[in-house]
This record gives sequence, C-alpha cells and structure tokens, in this order.
Amino acid sequence: MKEDKKIIKVLDTTLRDGEQSPGCTMHPTEKLEIALKLEAMKVDIIEAGFPASSNADFLSVQKITTAVKDCAVAALSRTTVHDIDTAAAALYLAKNPVLHMFIATSPIHLKYKLKMTEDEVLEAIAYHAKYAKSKLPYLRYAIEDATRTPVDFLIKAISVACENGADCINIADTVGYSTPAEMAQLVRKIKSEVGCPLSVHCHNDLGLATANTLAAIDSGADEFDCSVIGLGERAGNACLEEVVMALNTRGEYHKCKTGIETKQIYSAAKLVSGIVGIKLPPNKTIVGSNAFAHEAGIHQHGVLANRQTYEVMNPDDIGIPKNKLLLGKHSGKHAFVELISEMGYKLSDEEIQIYFERFKELAEKKKIVTRRDIDALLINTARQAIARKYTLVDYEITSYKGQATAEITLSSGEHTHVEKMTGDGPVDAAFKAINSLTGQNFILNDYSIHSVTEGKDALGEATVKLLMGDKIMTGKGLSTDVLEASINAYLNAVNKLQDEEE
Ligand code: MN
Repeated sequence: MKEDKKIIKVLDTTLRDGEQSPGCTMHPTEKLEIALKLEAMKVDIIEAGFPASSNADFLSVQKITTAVKDCAVAALSRTTVHDIDTAAAALYLAKNPVLHMFIATSPIHLKYKLKMTEDEVLEAIAYHAKYAKSKLPYLRYAIEDATRTPVDFLIKAISVACENGADCINIADTVGYSTPAEMAQLVRKIKSEVGCPLSVHCHNDLGLATANTLAAIDSGADEFDCSVIGLGERAGNACLEEVVMALNTRGEYHKCKTGIETKQIYSAAKLVSGIVGIKLPPNKTIVGSNAFAHEAGIHQHGVLANRQTYEVMNPDDIGIPKNKLLLGKHSGKHAFVELISEMGYKLSDEEIQIYFERFKELAEKKKIVTRRDIDALLINTARQAIARKYTLVDYEITSYKGQATAEITLSSGEHTHVEKMTGDGPVDAAFKAINSLTGQNFILNDYSIHSVTEGKDALGEATVKLLMGDKIMTGKGLSTDVLEASINAYLNAVNKLQDEEE
C-alpha cells in the first residue's frame, strides 16, 4: 500500500518579493492578471503586496482580495501598529486574509537596522502578535534573517510569537546564506522544541534556494514561499516551478505533494516573464526553451523510442504547448474559441472579439499560426487593454546611411497627431517622435527585441523599459514587423506610466 503523502502549502510571493526586484515594477492591472493566474494554478496563499509601503500597493492588495476567491491572500507588514492597521484595512474584503508580519532577529539586523536589544525584540513580537490577532484571524510571523540568528534566541523569538497567537512561523533565509544540511537541522530543532506550523522563505544568492526549501520540507516544514521564475530581491526566491516539480517528480522520495495545478506552470512563467520584461534563458529549469529539447543524436534516438530515457518530467504536465500547425487565415471564430479554451484561456465575449480580430490580422501576415503565436498574442494583447492613452495609427520610417526619419501618427481620444523626427537610426527616430507627441521626456532604460516563434515570418517581440522620474515601466509590443513591435512596446510603456500618474 502506498503511504499517504503530506500536503505542503505554497505561498507565492511573485507580487511582493518578486515585484521588489530591480526593474520589475508591475502595473496594478498586471498584478491582478498574475493573481488570477496564481489562483488558476491553485497556490494556497497569494502574497499580494505590502500595503504600508505605498498607496498603490495598498490599492492593488485591495483589488486582488476582491477578485481572488479560492486562495488566501496575504499582506506583508512590519512589526508596527501602523503597518498592521494598514494591512488589515487592505485585507478587509478578503475571504481568507493572512497577515504576514515580520521582524529581524540576527545580531547584524538588531544592531544596524532595528537598533533594538534582544529583549526589546521579544517584547515587540509579543505586543504586536497579540494586537495583530485582535485585528485578523490568521497571523503568519516571519523571522527575517533567521538563518544568521543564534539558535537559542531564534527559538525564544518563535516561542514568544506562538504564545501570543501566531498561527504559522516563517523562517526566512533572507540573504540566501544557509545550506541544505543546516536548514534541515534548524527545522527539526524548531519542530521538536516549539512544534508550531512552519514555513520557509529561501533566497537564491548562492543558488541554493530550491535545495534549502526541499531540505526544510524533508525535515518537517509544512509550507514554503516561492515565486514564479524565482523572481525576487537580488538573485531571487525559491522558484515555484522547481520546488513544485521536484515534489511532483520525486514525491515518493519526499513523501510530500502540493496542490498545484502543474499544467498552468508554463503559461504562468510566460506571463510573469512577459510582464516584467525578463526573457528566460534557454536553459532555465522546467520552463526554458531547451528544458525539453534534445540535440545530440544519441539523445534524440532515445527520446523518440521512449521520452523517459532522457526526461524525468513530461512536458505535458507543465502545460508546454505542442507546437503543431493549427490555424490559418481561413480558420473561423469557432475554431479559434475552441483552441484558446483548450489552451486554458478564459475570455469574455467582448475579449474574444478583440483577440479574434487580432488573430485574423496576424493570420493575414503569417501563413501558419501556431499555438505559440497564439500564446504570445494573448499574453501581450491582454495587457495592452490597459487604459490606452495613445494608439498607433500609422508610421513611415526611412533610413539611409545612419540618418533616419520617422513620421509617427498617434491617436489619443478623438484627436490624431502627427510628428516627424530624425535620429541615429529608425528606432531612435521613432522613439523621439513619440516623446515629442506625448510632450514627455521619457528616458529609454533598456530595449531588446527577439523572435517569439520560428520562421522568417516569425513574430517579433520588443521589450522597452522606460524611465520617468524614479519609475521604470516595462512595455511590450508584438508584430511580424520589428519596427512596429518596437513602437508598440514604447507606447505600451508610455501608457502604463501615464496611467500610474493619474
Ligand atoms: Mn525575501
């Protein structure tokens, strides 16, 4: 008889720790889109943000609590009454609110950041845990930099949090310092001395986040923090797809499983990488383009005979679309709707109409439309629905010996404006014309272009990072014409920045 596997809960922090990574600011509409994806993926807890950090974060957490029905929603809070009150207000409408309060305990944090003694930290934990529990039903207390804290004091801090109402303790390897053996030992010690529900939050500074998370789970942790594509401060957090697929693939070994809908993993990774403008390296674990590709003859031969010769996972389980030929310009709406619902997209009738027209436009330019084209189309156009202030009407670009001229026509509301500018190259000229049309001096922080599908008529995806004041916003554009993709990406970032301003 098979032993029952323990169910490990998953807290996803893509929207909180993930958004804190440099250059990864997300628009509230994008955060909501990710939250709904996380819900479809069946994560147990969505950490939606840090309400006390800004008004935008407060509103975004609030918005997510009303949209998400099946997951608990967590909000981060420092150990202060003001933060607890703010988080409680943001979580007011959540069905299953989780207050995620934290305090650091390591000597270096006490001395240089908190400027508190150990006794003062214990007092603060006791007071605020009690206060938090008077406001919210569920308190998850995170011990920041726990892995660099003397273990006796760590146990004391955890005990005080639990005695005063904490429902779960989160051990944070905040700076990615721990090793799997140390993590295992620490978890076992806490489990035997305090016995509280335990979660871990591992960072990847030394590439050990997944290994440390698994070691903690093997030693009795009940829950873990992670993020899609491992997004997070510095080198990031434990990567959701790695830990989940490790437990999925080696469940008998770990005697554990998660409730994650693994077929959503690939599209979630695509969605998040698209939104933050981080292109996944081909050798990225689980979701990279080479993760299930085989080049060497011997390997190809083996895989053709039986995939398991060189693959430990089935790409279908991760929801990797098979790139077979699908639709063309003669395909009707019915075939289109059937395909997108099979691919896991849930769209309103109005959205279906918009995307069907875009699909037809694409099919006119590209003879064969594959599932990957459709993925790219839907992921990108979904976000362009954001209050679009400027829309590209027309462009004409000429380039000759390092001198380029761009004439750009944009519409905004009922008005249409045209501007002509020269630049070092066609892209430079086009971007200058847009700046002039919008009357803003956006600074181009990063610009890249790559093809998302195969062939000479492949779709090009442009990514632009624009700087305005201290804000960086990512824009994406998609077209078979790279100049058009670039202009649309620039406008997408412009529109998002303008939208944030209001
Ligand atoms: Mn963190």
